[in-house]
Amino acid sequence: MTPLPFRFAELLGWAIKPGPRLYGIVFAFVLCEALLVVALILAADALSALDTVTYAAVGAVLTIALALPVNLQSCSAYLSLLDAKNRIEQMSRTDVLTGLPNRRVFLELVDQHIGQPVTLAILDVDRFKTVNDTKGHVVGDRVLMAVANELARDLATVGTLCRIGGEEFALLCFGQAVEDVLPTIQRACAAVETLQIPSPSGAVRVTLSCGLAATPSLAEVHPLYAAADSALYAAKAAGRNQVMLAAA
Ligand code: GH3
Ligand code: MG
Ligand code: MG
Repeated sequence: MTPLPFRFAELLGWAIKPGPRLYGIVFAFVLCEALLVVALILAADALSALDTVTYAAVGAVLTIALALPVNLQSCSAYLSLLDAKNRIEQMSRTDVLTGLPNRRVFLELVDQHIGQPVTLAILDVDRFKTVNDTKGHVVGDRVLMAVANELARDLATVGTLCRIGGEEFALLCFGQAVEDVLPTIQRACAAVETLQIPSPSGAVRVTLSCGLAATPSLAEVHPLYAAADSALYAAKAAGRNQVMLAAA
């Protein structure tokens, strides 16, 4: 259950997020409570000399003040829960091997851009099975990480790169035409080709094939995906290591 101070903050429209600032405030409160207890012990004689009404009023204020740590404790438990929730959510959206957004993010992004112009590129490592078969899966994983790293760096300015399958990546570009993103994709593929990924039996090099499709108004993902996938298939059939555009 959300602790009272948080519900109050939500009513006021404040977004409370775990972070060093909030933890600092909680720490300051706890420190104040400790000082209050010390002050009470030191002022015990003076308090006992007060008249009944003042004594009751001071007692009420102190009771409220001393109840604060309990509330703060539930706040800190709530913060831990929020933290855990954020971390789990982040994990469910991230590909474990490459750290890229995963297929779930890809589909969410598509959903959020229905009715808008979208360009989709599917990039697939050429003959990747051969890497696994000849160099082993550990090296295969290393290749995927290196390729993802290079692509993410080179394509960050044009769109969002997700890992949507084994050795398959999808680049979603919103509000950009094919001709705007094509040169960047070609440069990224060329950069991947120059990578020398270390392995016990010598450096591994790979190439990419890419299928590119666009729509002026996205109705649903399937036709756009099918068009990009057909273009990718054509790039493979034409000898791999190239970018192919879907038929308009
Ligand atoms: P093509 O040029 O036609 O794309 O051929 P390919 O060998 O790249 O494609 P294919 O679909 O035949 O093989 C893909 C391989 O990728 C098969 C699968 O075992 C491997 N793979 C999928 N995910 C991972 C992974 O996370 N790590 C490793 N090491 N291999 C993976
Ligand atoms: Mg492949
Ligand atoms: Mg594939």
